[in-house]
Formats: sequence, structure tokens, C-alpha cells
Amino acid sequence: MSTPPLKNQFVISVMGPPGSGKGTQAYLLAKKLGAFHFITSVEGKKYIAAHNDPETKRQVARYQEGLLFESPWTLRVVKDRTQSILESGQDIVYDGSPRTLSEAEGLILFLFQLLGRECVMAIELNVGEEELKSRLLKRRVCDRNHSHVFIDSEHYKVGDPCPEGDGVLQKRDIDDPSVFKTRMEEFRNLTVPAIEFLRKEGVLTVINGEESIENVWRDIDKELARRLGRRWPRGAHDND
Ligand SMILES: [Zn+2]
Repeated sequence: MSTPPLKNQFVISVMGPPGSGKGTQAYLLAKKLGAFHFITSVEGKKYIAAHNDPETKRQVARYQEGLLFESPWTLRVVKDRTQSILESGQDIVYDGSPRTLSEAEGLILFLFQLLGRECVMAIELNVGEEELKSRLLKRRVCDRNHSHVFIDSEHYKVGDPCPEGDGVLQKRDIDDPSVFKTRMEEFRNLTVPAIEFLRKEGVLTVINGEESIENVWRDIDKELARRLGRRWPRGAHDND
């Protein structure tokens, strides 16, 4: 195999069911690495704003009917954005990609060619369904920054100011128990096969996501320090 065109850059995908805390952990990870926090829905909207080919228009129409973007189009968007971000010199933390098996297959092969196999990593946050359900009921999200998530309805009430100082805390419609059921089914049917594929490719690390945000982060920090060696930034989080 030839030398990958982009040397010494890497990508990490944070995977997990709805409510697993993957958005929060991806945010922390991107911040620590100075990497690009790649939220697939956000990148999709940017792509739509800049393109009006027939296929993109068709996806927008589907989306407006409440349907999800289709995998071939999503894969095209993710690859397109990935290439330009990596070429600008930034590493990437994916939050929401790959979401399906076909996206996983397409994206991983693309990344292997671009970066080399050892520079592609994925983390699965493993959280049981009962824990997920109870978290979603308690979850409060900042209306200004969706990475500001607080799982504690005792201390954080709807309408309270965000502790990070920017917005107001809200409950998301998407966290409604009936919506949760649909999202869980979708995760099981579409995303679990993608995670299994990453496992088979040897790029997946499983982290226990049932711990507190701080403890999950500590485990991720430890694991990536081990995998990335000197490339992992040592900082305030390292006590050992
Ligand atoms: Zn906030």
C-alpha cells in the first residue's frame, strides 16, 4: 500500500446510543486536541447552504417531511467536508458519523486511504437502556450551545440560565419518551451494524459510559494517551 497523503493527522469517532453523552465527550475531546468537532447535522446544513444540485435539493425536501438524510448523500457530504478539514491541517472528532453501516464502510475506507489505518479511531460509549431512559428524562440542554448538557433535573430547571454563561436551559422535544423509543430502534437497526463494522476493522475501543461525565472523560483520556502516545496532549487533566 502506498504512503497516505496526509501524514500525522488523525480522526476519532465517538459512537453511542441517544443519551450516552457522546456529544459532550466529543466536545471535550475536540477541545483538548484542538481538533474540529464534526457534528454531522451541522455540517450537513452548511453543505446544503453551499450546494443546490438536484440530489441535495431532494434530500432537503425529504428532511422537511421529517425523514432522515439518505446514507449515500450523507456519506458524500461527510467525505467532502472531511477532506477539506484535514487538508486545512486539523484533526477531526466525529459526533454523529458514521450513522449507518454503508456510511461506516465508505467513510472508513476513505479515511484508511487518506490517513493510514492506525490514524483512524472510534470510541463506543456503552450505556444500558434503563440508564439512558432515566437520563433523558433528567436532561437539560443549553439553547445556545447544544454541547452544554446537564443531566440533573434537581439542580438545573428548565428556564434556568446555562451554567456556562451563554444561554437558557431547556428540555428537548427529542428527549420525550415516545421519541426516545423511535430513536433507540433507529440506533439498534442502523447504527449498531456500523459499530460492529468498526469493531471488526479493529479501530473500536469500548468505554463504560454509565459513569459520570468526569469519569467517562478520564477513561477516554487514559485510553487515547495509550493509543496516541506522544501525540496526545498532556495537560491539566493528567494527574498520574
Ligand atoms: Zn450554555
